[in-house]
This record gives sequence, structure tokens and C-alpha cells, in this order.
Amino acid sequence: MQIDWENLGFSYIKTPWRFVAKWKNGFWEQGALTEDNILHIHEGSPALHYGQQCFEGLKAYRRPDGGINLFRPDENSKRLNRSARRLRMPFVPEEMFLDAVNQVVKANQEFVPPYGTGATLYLRPLLIGVGENIGVAPAPEYLFIIFCMPVGSYFKGGLAPTNFIVSDYDRAAPNGTGAAKVGGNYAASLLPGYEAHERNFSDCIYLDPETHTKIEEVGSANFFGITAENEFVTPKSPSILPSITKYSLLYLAEHALGLTPVEGDVYVDQLDRFVEAGACGTAAVISPIGGIQNGESFHVFYSETEVGPKTRALYDELTGIQFGERKAPAGWIFDVPLD
Ligand SMILES: *Cc1c(COP(=O)(O)O)cnc(C)c1O
Repeated sequence: MQIDWENLGFSYIKTPWRFVAKWKNGFWEQGALTEDNILHIHEGSPALHYGQQCFEGLKAYRRPDGGINLFRPDENSKRLNRSARRLRMPFVPEEMFLDAVNQVVKANQEFVPPYGTGATLYLRPLLIGVGENIGVAPAPEYLFIIFCMPVGSYFKGGLAPTNFIVSDYDRAAPNGTGAAKVGGNYAASLLPGYEAHERNFSDCIYLDPETHTKIEEVGSANFFGITAENEFVTPKSPSILPSITKYSLLYLAEHALGLTPVEGDVYVDQLDRFVEAGACGTAAVISPIGGIQNGESFHVFYSETEVGPKTRALYDELTGIQFGERKAPAGWIFDVPLD
């Protein structure tokens, strides 16, 4: 297969190997790599009827020396288990998770894009409830799967700003599953996302479901804004998905850029306080927000065409660490054993 590394988007590409393990009778079976990318599961599987499934997303990065980095995969493992707990699914032990990630990356290593292309290998861990069932109850069996593919940028344009629109829909309820990485949240976001795309916006911005006055997140990425007073601000809410990228940026904003990290309320009628804004996540990396449409008003941050200097500096710091060019805070980088 010939891959144009420089022009990859974010779409499915079949790579040779994926990891699949089954949980049955209270235990995880050994699990193995397989070439088969089609699942054969029971028609009554709770994942299909009642949304008993959760997932993760992380990337493998090719270093200048040819080695391969993972970025904070232990955090993905912990979050998968928090999602699993919320949906009454069995935990995947961290050691099993990390070992499976390493196996999948190593087996597909020729699909980890070359250093310098900006592309990465995206890994998709998936935990689904399967087996014979019809009533609303946790599944009798579970599958833990990790597959992967090379990807480029998630929002068109990479570091070029794009515009977003505030949605009238909610993505999560105050005590619902907003903080869990579950497919149900995404099913609910398809219609709002479609309507946003129809109007030429990259995606929606969701407000807090209770008062509809504060920005929560983008639906596949977290929001941040940078003030003229050098604060790096991200919304604080129990119904936001706790982005590992966001927490990493809060740290880097402070320790690498000397900004003041703030987790707090971001009122949608006070966007004037921000001189730059962006969306962040593993898939999106950092995607600058040009402007936000809110009802009749359109607010432009730094520029609709240029990335702001602080957003760029954060992007350079984060990706520099991920690709092994810059020194990482202790424990952030995991080297994938290749032999
Ligand atoms: C996965 C996800 C993010 C980004 O989280 P990262 O850990 O940074 O990849 C943000 N919002 C939602 C809704 C997500 O599912």
C-alpha cells in the first residue's frame, strides 16, 4: 500500500494487525493480534442496543532517531476504566492495556508515519459489551480491541484557524455521561454536527446544559482561550470529557510559556476577554478557533486566517515533546519496544 504521508486526513485505513481480547466468566482471556477487521458478535449484544461501549484515542509518534513514542498512554488506560465503571463494564488492567498498545504499534510499525511529515499512528482502543441478552443489563461478555491507522489533521487545515458555532443542543446532562468517553455522547452529537457542517462551520460548541451560558467543549475536543493578561483558560465542568491534551496544555502553558493556568467558567457572552482560542484533543492536537458564531453575533479571536503566537508556541511545545524533539515532563513519554 502506497501512503501519501503528507496529505493524510482522518479516515479509516486498514492496517494489518489489531489486538482482540475477550472477557468471560469474570476474567480476561489472553488476547491476541489478528488480521481480521470484522467482528462476529451476538445480535443481542448490549453494545448494539443500549450503548454499553466506551473507547479511547491515542497516538504513536515517530522520533527523529527512528524510535516510536507514546504520549501519556497510562492516562488513557485510567480514563478507559473510569468510563467502564460508569457503564458497569469490567476494568482493563493497565498492564494489559499498555502491553496491547505496544503489540499493536510494533506489529504495524511500518504504518507509523516518518518523522517530519507531522502525521502519526492513531490507536483506537474499544471496550464493548457483547453476548446473548435482551433486557437492560450489563453484558455477559466483553471485547477489548485496539486497532490503528496513520492519520493527519482532524479539522481541515491543521494549524489554520476554522470557525465554530454555538449549538442549541446539549451533548451531556449535568450528572450524565459527559465525562465518560462513550459512543452515546457522539451519537447525540451527529445531528448538531451535521447542522454545523451544513452552515460551513468545523463543528459545534456546546454550552453547559443547565444554564446555557458557559462554554463546555467542542464535542470531540476541549476548548481553551488565552487572555490579554496571559491567562490560559479552560472550562471547568463535570460534564466535559477530561482531555489529556487539555491537562497537558494547562501544565505547559504554565511551565513552558509562563502563562497562568485557569480552570473556570467561560461565559459565552464574554468572549472578548480572549485574544486567542482553540480546540484541543489527541485527534485535533491544537486547532485554532478563528471565530465563534453565537446566535446572530460572530466573534473573531486572533484572526480568521492566522494562528496566534501563543497558540502556536503551545502547539510547538506539545508536538515537540510528543515527537521527542523537546524535553518532556517526567512520565509523559513511553518508548515502544520494537525488538
Ligand atoms: C477524546 C475527547 C476529547 C479529547 O481528549 P484527549 O484526551 O485530549 O484526546 C475531548 N472531548 C471529547 C468529547 C472526547 O471524546
